[in-house]
Amino acid sequence: MSESKLAVYNTLSRSEEPFAPMHERKVNMFVCGNTVYDDAHLGHAKTYIDFAIIARWLRHLGYELRYAQNITDVDDKIIARAKERGIEARELAATYEKRFMEDMEALGIRKDVDVYPRSHDYIETIREQIQLLLDKGYAYLLEGDVYYDVARFKDYTKLSRMKLDELKRHRIEPKEGKINQYDFSLWKAAKAGEPRWEIKVMHKGNEVKLIGRPGWHIEDTAMTYALFGPQYDVHGGANELIFPHHTNEIAQAEAAFGKIPFVKYWLHSGVLNIKDVKMSKSLRNFITIRDFLKNYDAEVFRLLVCSTHYRKDIDYSDALVKEAQKRLRYLYAAFGIFFNMSEAGESDNDRKILEISQTLENEFAKAMNSDFNTPLALSKLVQAVKALREFSGSNEKIGKKAKENAAKIVLNLANVLGLLESDRYKEKMPQEVLDLIKKREALRAEKKFAEADKIRDEVKKHGVAIEDTEFGSVWYRNS
Ligand SMILES: [Zn+2]
Repeated sequence: MSESKLAVYNTLSRSEEPFAPMHERKVNMFVCGNTVYDDAHLGHAKTYIDFAIIARWLRHLGYELRYAQNITDVDDKIIARAKERGIEARELAATYEKRFMEDMEALGIRKDVDVYPRSHDYIETIREQIQLLLDKGYAYLLEGDVYYDVARFKDYTKLSRMKLDELKRHRIEPKEGKINQYDFSLWKAAKAGEPRWEIKVMHKGNEVKLIGRPGWHIEDTAMTYALFGPQYDVHGGANELIFPHHTNEIAQAEAAFGKIPFVKYWLHSGVLNIKDVKMSKSLRNFITIRDFLKNYDAEVFRLLVCSTHYRKDIDYSDALVKEAQKRLRYLYAAFGIFFNMSEAGESDNDRKILEISQTLENEFAKAMNSDFNTPLALSKLVQAVKALREFSGSNEKIGKKAKENAAKIVLNLANVLGLLESDRYKEKMPQEVLDLIKKREALRAEKKFAEADKIRDEVKKHGVAIEDTEFGSVWYRNS
């Protein structure tokens, strides 16, 4: 195991900090999940892949991680869409929750999350939190709604670092009679035909009945209070959630429970853009996960995502997808060659193989421990696989133990990034095909491209396609 220690970039401090969870090896992590009113798109997939990799790395380091990701199934957008379709809001939410889970399964990241809490299961915890905020004077009633009095919470902008003036330029819930313009709702009175719950709160000695539904921000703090208690280690989500969503979560939790900090590390991921515009449902410039997976393997998208640091935005394009596909093919092909090399008891190459795998282990850990630097970790992985593959050129056998050890390390680390999860690298190419490919590479080295192309056609007859990439020739079953 490497000497390096994990450091993470904390949005709260705007700096990289050594990672020290509140309860030694136990880590509680919450990530804002999906609002289930439509199929999830690649922008959502980026966020959840980013945090799945983070979860995998924490587990790889031996932390006992509990990862919760919520399903927002009570929301304005769900209500509006259900109305359009003439169905019940909960029917619409149930349909899209099921489809969302299928998408996460297809992307191979459903298993990384331990619990998917749904908002409607936490109404009682939400009520208790609203009661606490009323008791402490942070909340007020207004015609069946409950609002949070933002001016009462003095550290309101510590996460966003915005000026109070700036807040007014952001989306504001309009309502006559609010104390401050930017006060946000904890509870909304139900309009005709909307889903509703009935809760009772005590206010100035009187019992008040509220019929409606919770505001968006309070579901998260209710869930995390129920699952983790008043404080926990990591809260993640896309960076567009810093304000108002995460800002309001802090205001609610720290005011209600009196424990600071509510969350120790705030991790925010970049978004996925198409032609410089964020992929979003409302802009209708999105590609659903389902549509993507009709044409490509899930690992292509996972490789695309981990080729960029999680905090950065990705500019999605077809060219980027093709590039990721090539790199993935290379990884499978090169690792497959190494994996299928003939074994001996021991060989002169073993020491070198051991060295390559140890270097990979160290450098990969160093990259991941530096705020989950996946693009660097990936390049170390590709380099190591490339170096291991070269042994096939020596016509020598390699020691069984050294080979098994190296393969195990490569697979372990690749799996952290969600790569090499299929075992198609185990498939051996017929020797005849391997010889043709070798011959072609030699011809290309001599710049005899026309002859090389002929061999490519020859190889094609065996159902194998060859592509020339910056990493060398890549071949794969053309099925
Ligand atoms: Zn959230």
